[in-house]
Amino acid sequence: MKYIASCSFGKDSLATVILAHEHGEPLDEIVYVEVMFDNEISGETPEHTDFIYNKAIPKLESWGYPVKVLRSEKTYMDCFNHIVVRGKTQGKKRGFPMQGHCNVNGNCKLAPIRKYMKEQPKNLIQYVGIALDEPKRLARLEANRVSLLAKYKYTEQMAFELCKEYNLLSPIYDFTNRGGCWFCMNAKDKELRHLRDNHSELWQRLLALENEPNLAGPIWNTLTQTSLHDKEEQFYIMDNQINLFQENDLSLRKNVDKYK
Ligand code: SF4
Repeated sequence: MKYIASCSFGKDSLATVILAHEHGEPLDEIVYVEVMFDNEISGETPEHTDFIYNKAIPKLESWGYPVKVLRSEKTYMDCFNHIVVRGKTQGKKRGFPMQGHCNVNGNCKLAPIRKYMKEQPKNLIQYVGIALDEPKRLARLEANRVSLLAKYKYTEQMAFELCKEYNLLSPIYDFTNRGGCWFCMNAKDKELRHLRDNHSELWQRLLALENEPNLAGPIWNTLTQTSLHDKEEQFYIMDNQINLFQENDLSLRKNVDKYK
């Protein structure tokens, strides 16, 4: 019997590994799939990549767990540049994911894990980070997939606290409550803002993709018709309104001081 834990280094999967460590559950290997933007740049936000490689992996390895990093041969940019071969958009580059269907998930995330699974012995148990308060997901679990969070009665909040206790909470939780690729079309405004304000080189790369000609999916979120250029304008206006407000507030205070 081989035991592995799938780990994204988010709170639930890391808490699963911590529980295995605390309770002496069998665990032979930890498997992490890293989606890549291109051949050089990770799809994880830079803070998360730093946390994974410089903090979490060394810690888990110090507990005796080998960590296997899987990457697909395909990157986000390969998916983006793929030429559509049939249908109305035939001959165009695929561009941004169409109608909410993420082609990155299948090509860059599931493909390497499926390949890895095929190479594994049949009697494999996989620990998955599904918490006690996710009953629908728990009900869908197959027999060879086990939730240690459910076994030890851990909710998502408890998983968060456990990671914090072990100093193994990713810094992504400072600005969001979900993991995911920095270019994800499901990113919330606060995640986009974080990217724009802290990693402007990545933000600019993404903005530039919307300027490319001949794309089947020409804007960042084709389902909600949300363009990153619109978001850029919205954030720019918000920043300037805040600055204007602060300037007005400052000059008002100066005038008040003058007449004191
Ligand atoms: S986080 Fe978003 S872009 Fe990344 S694989 Fe999941 S759905 Fe696709």
